[in-house]
Amino acid sequence: CGIVGVLGSHEVAPLILESLKRLEYRGYDSAGIATVNAGKLDRRRAVGKLVNLSDLMVHEALPGKAGIGHTRWATHGEPNVANAHPHRSGPVAVVHNGIIENFRPLREELAAAGIARESDTDTEVIAQLTRHHMDQGMDPQQAVGATLTRLEGAFALAFLFDGQDNLMIGARKGSPLAVGWGEGEMFLGSDAIALAPMTDRITYLEEGDWVVVTREGATFYDRAGQRVNRSVAKIQLEQ
Ligand code: GLU
Repeated sequence: CGIVGVLGSHEVAPLILESLKRLEYRGYDSAGIATVNAGKLDRRRAVGKLVNLSDLMVHEALPGKAGIGHTRWATHGEPNVANAHPHRSGPVAVVHNGIIENFRPLREELAAAGIARESDTDTEVIAQLTRHHMDQGMDPQQAVGATLTRLEGAFALAFLFDGQDNLMIGARKGSPLAVGWGEGEMFLGSDAIALAPMTDRITYLEEGDWVVVTREGATFYDRAGQRVNRSVAKIQLEQ
């Protein structure tokens, strides 16, 4: 339902929590955050209010200067921890707003390739398919590009990868996603409200776009995989 991503210069979990709080107005049933810390991808997820997630992270800290977060409004699979985002398969973590219409055939295809399901969501196949592409030798960007051509339905996505603490990949089809520009920091968010605590310089992805983000900037691709330029807007939001 709500997406936040941060490639930061400080610990990102508190910032992601603050940003997710600003998305609470959309409604949600569970929440989660993944980070990369010292090259290692890890995640925390909790059912119910964001305070449950922040309480969990008091006991099980989630350090790291790169992270993605999500508030979930379940469409496929009941609201429980296993179904909460981020979903992970091997080196890939993903958060998703929307619905993947063809998740059943994709799930069967992945099962045949030896990648078993771990949740009841439509989202999980996105992480698994991307992992499968990486198992076949693709780098993260190639793997996401290949995955996107297989997905039917509506999505905003943010990906994070084990071993990569300066990389996020975002994608948009039928669900909004924006890139936020900082000073040596970069952000992803499902709307400008989510990004307001971090930056007022925002680029909205156009329909079918995807974006490769590092702390140095963002490179945009259209649905055909062609590099495209997207302009930056200065957003005025009331705090
Ligand atoms: N369809 C996904 C799920 O049920 C994402 C829902 C959302 O947009 O939060 O997990």
